Amino acid sequence: MNHLKIVSEKPTMKKHLMCSYCGAITISSGGTEFCSNCELTVKDTKTKLISLNHTLITSLDTINGFYKNNKFSDADDLYLNILKDTDDPLFLYTYAIFLIKYSNFKLSKVSYDKEGFMEDNANYRTASWKIYGNARMFLYNCIERIEKNQEIHPLQKRFAVFLSMMKLGNIRSASIELEKIKGIENGQTYNYAKIILDSAIKNYDQIIIGSENFLSNTPYPQNVIYYLAFALFKNGKIRESIKLSQFMNKNYPNLKYIELIKTIEKTTALD
Ligand SMILES: [Zn+2]
Repeated sequence: MNHLKIVSEKPTMKKHLMCSYCGAITISSGGTEFCSNCELTVKDTKTKLISLNHTLITSLDTINGFYKNNKFSDADDLYLNILKDTDDPLFLYTYAIFLIKYSNFKLSKVSYDKEGFMEDNANYRTASWKIYGNARMFLYNCIERIEKNQEIHPLQKRFAVFLSMMKLGNIRSASIELEKIKGIENGQTYNYAKIILDSAIKNYDQIIIGSENFLSNTPYPQNVIYYLAFALFKNGKIRESIKLSQFMNKNYPNLKYIELIKTIEKTTALD
């Protein structure tokens, strides 16, 4: 299957949707869509969300601004304020995602070219592990509170528990959740979740099959193409993977495509 040809020939709406939990923007072709950052379901535009809760959306916007400029500590303070004001457990999940990024940021400061005993490095590493430990705690907390919550739709509930289990690296529990999702809705959410799980267990052939099934329909979730490009790369189809990522980044700009292209280029340069 010529994936790039199919993707480039699909009619696109390019609707900008905002995640009401993490504030990230996802450029959608109009169907069921998953957040480009936290992967929860997204369905509303920023304008619509602002009309529903102006204060929250402004805070999420500010957090994203801080985060893009590596001001993690400022973003952290603001996120904690949001948590104080809400009972919705899904915010615990997106806060944990934020903490994982914060932890990675601290770790990225570790440098191996320093002389001496590298006390700075030890401090960054300790800080990184501490933040990561907090992220795991919030994920467990989220799962516990979701189960008690009566307001969240059962499908959204199972999908959020699935995503939390995936972030915790608990593949066994995530597989059980995947079956529960299938029992509620054997459709887009299940198929998308299956691709996430296949990616974690390095089942790249299955990701390609799953993505191709999505591509036979219009519209399809944009994130699927990222998983497809990643699986093509892992299966040695380097040229196709880069071309697809470049096309997607041009039409649906997202840092994850730039990072994937960089990873592919680094790997192929080593060969
Ligand atoms: Zn999100």
